[in-house]
Amino acid sequence: MTVSQIASIIEELAPKAYQESYDNTGLCVGSATQEVGGALLCLDVTEEIVHEAIAHKCNLIISHHPVIFGGLKQITGQTEQQRVVRLAIKNDIALYSAHTNIDSVRGGVSEKMADRLALTNRSILIPQKGNLVKLVTFAPTRHAEKVRSALFEAGAGHIGAYSHCSYNASGTGTFMAGEGAQPFVGKWGELRQEPEERMEVIVPEHLSGKVVSALIKTHPYEEPAFDLVPLANVNPNVGFGILGKLPKQMEVNAFLKQVKQVFKCSSIKYSTCTKPIISKVAVMSGSGAGFSGAASAVGADAYVSADFKYHELQNINTQLLAIDIGHYESEVAVIEIFYDVLTKKCSKFVVRLASSLKNPINYL
Ligand SMILES: [Zn+2]
Repeated sequence: MTVSQIASIIEELAPKAYQESYDNTGLCVGSATQEVGGALLCLDVTEEIVHEAIAHKCNLIISHHPVIFGGLKQITGQTEQQRVVRLAIKNDIALYSAHTNIDSVRGGVSEKMADRLALTNRSILIPQKGNLVKLVTFAPTRHAEKVRSALFEAGAGHIGAYSHCSYNASGTGTFMAGEGAQPFVGKWGELRQEPEERMEVIVPEHLSGKVVSALIKTHPYEEPAFDLVPLANVNPNVGFGILGKLPKQMEVNAFLKQVKQVFKCSSIKYSTCTKPIISKVAVMSGSGAGFSGAASAVGADAYVSADFKYHELQNINTQLLAIDIGHYESEVAVIEIFYDVLTKKCSKFVVRLASSLKNPINYL
């Protein structure tokens, strides 16, 4: 397997198109065509992690945080980031990361947090906008089923937990083939009227090229007509955070203790909350402090995330229990996601969970 083949397995779960504009998800160091002997999975790439990769002959390191994020102006070895890049290049180790894209999908890092709390009735807390298009096309009635199936196969027609969603209506198409055309029916200069089906399907924008290719490949006409229309809809399957319900409502103190325990926190900090009982819970992996308003807006009783500053916790609505569990603690389970997806899809190379994972934040 090459680096790019392994990347495409991860990107099937977490398409790069879903990363935030400020992010640098993907291959940071190395060649996409390099054959991979083994992959080491981690949250942050440290020098220790690169040495662990060398020791275990892993020539690919997959991390959550990109090694090169805000730019890199020198590689002189003055900072750990620079030494990591140098060491990786010297040893032919590729560095790949899946960051805000794997934060934004079902089955991603926030979903792992929801798993820890056994939340039920889950949905995305802040659905992403602007990543859906509508494809409208027309096919001769007797070919409509084949075309529709090809569109679904290429990734069209998913709405929430439903697949194969489409709207279909019968009508009449007209056309006249010009000189040089090779019409499916009729002759040059002949005005045709054909019974056709109009089909509408929703498509994630990053799959629109693939879906249009499938349409052209299966459609019997030389020039299939289709419209790709950008949608202002939110995508309920993509976005930051997960909202859900506790299997059983809990008193605030009991909930705090459970959170501390399941995320293996040395300590947690939390806002002042006047609500006695917690039932509806929102979670967000990483620096989610700025999104507590979204949790309040959907009526969550508690919001579990990380990186809250003093005034952020101070100013939170007292009807919301905001809990800071630590950035590392909220995200470290990402390595389990990488492990599960890679071991399920391919067994041709070694996948190792890094043993030198370290929380850079210490507690006393
Ligand atoms: Zn993070």
